[in-house]
Amino acid sequence: MTVRVRFAPSPTGHLHIGGARTALYNWLYARQHHGTFILRIEDTDRERSTEEYTHSILDGMRWLGLDWDEGPIYQTDRAQIYHTHLNQLLREENAYRCFCTPERLEQLRTEALAAGRKPTYDRRCRDLTPDAHDTRPCCIRFKAPLTGQTVVQDMVRGTVTFDNKELDDLILARSDGTPTYNFVVVVDDVTMQITHVIRGDDHLNNTPRQMLLYAAFNYPTPLFAHLPMILGSDRKRLSKRHGATSVIAYQQTGYLPQALLNYLARLGWSHGDQEIFTLEEMVRAFSFDHVGRAGAIFNPEKLDWVNMAHMKSFSDEELAARVEPFLAEMGLVPHDRDYAARAIASERERAKTLRELAEISAFYFRPSVVWDAPAVAKWLDADGQRILQAMTPMLHSVETWNADALKETFSALQARENVKFLQVAQPLRVALTGTTTSPGIYDVLTIMGKTTVLHRIEQALVHAKKAHGYSGPVS
Ligand code: GLU
Repeated sequence: MTVRVRFAPSPTGHLHIGGARTALYNWLYARQHHGTFILRIEDTDRERSTEEYTHSILDGMRWLGLDWDEGPIYQTDRAQIYHTHLNQLLREENAYRCFCTPERLEQLRTEALAAGRKPTYDRRCRDLTPDAHDTRPCCIRFKAPLTGQTVVQDMVRGTVTFDNKELDDLILARSDGTPTYNFVVVVDDVTMQITHVIRGDDHLNNTPRQMLLYAAFNYPTPLFAHLPMILGSDRKRLSKRHGATSVIAYQQTGYLPQALLNYLARLGWSHGDQEIFTLEEMVRAFSFDHVGRAGAIFNPEKLDWVNMAHMKSFSDEELAARVEPFLAEMGLVPHDRDYAARAIASERERAKTLRELAEISAFYFRPSVVWDAPAVAKWLDADGQRILQAMTPMLHSVETWNADALKETFSALQARENVKFLQVAQPLRVALTGTTTSPGIYDVLTIMGKTTVLHRIEQALVHAKKAHGYSGPVS
């Protein structure tokens, strides 16, 4: 059997974490079995579906690298196919026209609720003798079996049994002719020859109804895998209340797509105690046997940790290239690849995301320093300025600009001025970076190079004089 799976998002919102995990499991399963991964946009709900969300879902999938083999297929393009299949069910007497008015149905509902019964249709029109000339408005209902059971064999949930008598005569098409959700899903699965349905377990209750419809089309029931929901730390279904849920938000925050995929794969699936996977490893190792039934709790700290682990796997050059778009957002364009790689190398251990890495490295790329006022107040006071002034000619005369030569220069300066290393390093750090936290000062000095260092010290002195009103030692 050739595996054919589909990811079928409704474009009523951005691609969210839960949807991305469903897409990933489908994708992994398809790739593992050399099967076909189909992308189907379930846009039948025209009021809630938008083109913007469709684009956003496609962008999210592309960013994650979850490439599809067929599609995107839009349900709104398939009206004719649904129509033909509806007629088939009517012709074969697996469906019937129901003329009951909305008022009658509402009355049935109210009565059932008042009597404490589940509101179901009483099937009044099920056995009417069809009259092709009856022009009253009608919907089309499925002639569901009245007895027996429908058994879902689920790769995650095991065997789930539903009594057919609990299942209603499902409406397949409304009186305005539009087909309903459960019907189009089945027609799509049948015509796309889907072999495995992998989706969120919020759809489990639809499954027996859909299985009866597959049978009505003489289509072998696909295998199911219903994935448990993703929960927030309060064990409630993950929602905006818990923070960012859209994949695009994670892209914008600077997570690596492979890290997000790794994290999502492990959210509900395990493979021994391995936490970090490449995509190829996931394709090889993934199995529904190790997908848990319980809801999985989304843990942002763990995602950070996984992201850092994936960031480690990049060379400095690769990481610098990934950081570039985030620098560009700040209006910063590294002109020199090698400089960018060395700058990023000096900061990479300190950042959890690409955006954070861009932010803490930005000082390397700015034409002039952005000043942190408390740092300036504390370290570019009269003492700090005196040290910067004293070091300027000494740095000018350093010929071989490397850590050893600079260390010697600072030792000489400390001795001459009778100050501790901190009293040299901190004013210099503020002068070069604008703040008091940065990589080791020798790293910053050697990466920036002599010209920039001297230029920044000069700028710092100008700024400090403005901020503190100190105008230099009396000569
Ligand atoms: N469109 C449904 C959703 O977004 C998926 C239905 C399915 O996979 O069968 O939840």
